[in-house]
Amino acid sequence: MISKENILAWINLLADEINDNKEYLTELDSQIGDADHGINMSRGFKKVQEKLPDLEEKDIGGVLKGVGMALVSSVGGASGPLYGTFFMKAGGAVDGKQEINLAELAELFSAGYEGVKSRGKAQPGEKTMLDAMEPALGALNAAAEDGKTVADALVDAMQAAEAGMEATTDMKATKGRASYLGERSIGHKDPGATSTYLLFKTAKEALS
Ligand code: ADP
Ligand code: MG
Repeated sequence: MISKENILAWINLLADEINDNKEYLTELDSQIGDADHGINMSRGFKKVQEKLPDLEEKDIGGVLKGVGMALVSSVGGASGPLYGTFFMKAGGAVDGKQEINLAELAELFSAGYEGVKSRGKAQPGEKTMLDAMEPALGALNAAAEDGKTVADALVDAMQAAEAGMEATTDMKATKGRASYLGERSIGHKDPGATSTYLLFKTAKEALS
């Protein structure tokens, strides 16, 4: 089972990871966007870290919703509302729970993914964070069906997110700022898919 303490540890680790990769994410965004993805994400997760002590008393749903609200309120740019929606919808899927199993973890990520999809009106294949989220979710669901352990499932999800992130390099962006570049967006890795990979990488580290 995954406890609320595991979830809090994951969010804290993700915030550190985002901060450690601030310059890298911004460098990726400078290739096909406006060079602020690392700045946006680290500002948002700094706010999240400040708010975490106030969220400790809440259940898993409340923790995740609090993370989402901190991101929405502190991040300008596309990624704030999108990741904010991800965490708010994810939280809504596990309301009232103090611990969750693998199937519930998969449901939580599915709800977040569906939220991002409808908020951003995008589909996988458009060179966005969805291209890392969707394969990671597929891997989690498959692992849950195969009766794998949480630890093994999270390794699968991380690897699928990584492959999805790498696959954005060859895609043409049709959503977000990178779409302004058209064909010239091809050959560059998507910054948002990269931050999503970090989300699954830290989930594997903290929730296993
Ligand atoms: P902005 O594009 O406003 O500068 P960021 O640089 O912080 O915001 O985030 C850019 C990332 O947001 C992109 O790399 C992409 O992954 C993601 N993104 C942009 N538009 C969408 C969308 N409609 N749906 C999903 N993800 C999107
Ligand atoms: Mg940007």
